[in-house]
Amino acid sequence: MSSLLILGGTVEARELAGVLHSRGVPVISSLAGRVAAPRLPPGEVRIGGFGGPDGLERWLAEHDVFAVVDATHPFAARMSASAFEACGRAGVPHLRLERPGWRERPGDRWVWVDDVAAAAQAVEGLGRRALLALGRQEVAAFAGIDSTWFLIRSVGPPDPPLPPLREVLLDRGPFTLGGELGVLDEHRIDVVVTRDSGGDQTAPKLDAARERGLPVVVVRRPPAASTGAVTTVAEAAAWAPSQADRTAAPDEFSRAGSQKPSGTGG
Ligand code: NAP
Repeated sequence: MSSLLILGGTVEARELAGVLHSRGVPVISSLAGRVAAPRLPPGEVRIGGFGGPDGLERWLAEHDVFAVVDATHPFAARMSASAFEACGRAGVPHLRLERPGWRERPGDRWVWVDDVAAAAQAVEGLGRRALLALGRQEVAAFAGIDSTWFLIRSVGPPDPPLPPLREVLLDRGPFTLGGELGVLDEHRIDVVVTRDSGGDQTAPKLDAARERGLPVVVVRRPPAASTGAVTTVAEAAAWAPSQADRTAAPDEFSRAGSQKPSGTGG
């Protein structure tokens, strides 16, 4: 039985797996394995890297994958590039699902930078007590700063080296405006550092910074590997079965609750 591979680790990937699984589409969700107790999506789950584009290309053939939805985090650039390359070589249909980035609103004081190294340079001039709301792998870029105190918030323990003046707060979204105001006030935060991850779950820190009039250093997304992308789970859920229609045998369609193939093949 052919399966759809969802490259996951995001809320959208979990939702997509849930929608397709409930419609009878066979899905395998893939997680990087970075989080100790990940929120698992419905359906089959595999964990860990594939071994670059070559490994993924082999994996696609071995597991009879009819299409791939890359729903990884907007900053998981290596996985996205690898998926784009492997699918292209294997002739497997590929779709990028990426939530839109955040947009500035009136009252925001955002400073856009290209990467975390530039964020580390910017933060020193903007404040003395910073909330670092980044991935745990990104904190090392701030290790050389000893004139700013950092509240490092991440899902898992941040990878060393860490800045000398710091406190680590292990937490994961969804966050609320009230909770984020509490964090800013309790720790007397005067600058926030974030990546442009997008989505509702972690956006309240931006609302809280606006309410308190604080500057926010925002790291731009890396360039996309693929040329096109959809931004909603509904669009990806509509695309995926149509790829099965192009490739599956007739008996597979009845199980997937889909229409009979039109004979266009592929
Ligand atoms: P990455 O740098 O793009 O990926 C590094 C390697 O991890 C990939 O080349 C791949 O290994 C493996 N990998 C990543 N996502 C995978 C998946 N869904 N299934 C199987 N293998 C996967 O991504 P990252 O290291 O995970 O994270 C980069 C940034 O994205 C970090 O700042 C992180 O905070 C953020 N982020 C990632 C995720 C996620 O689930 N990946 C979730 C939230 C945030 P092989 O080359 O061996 O295939």
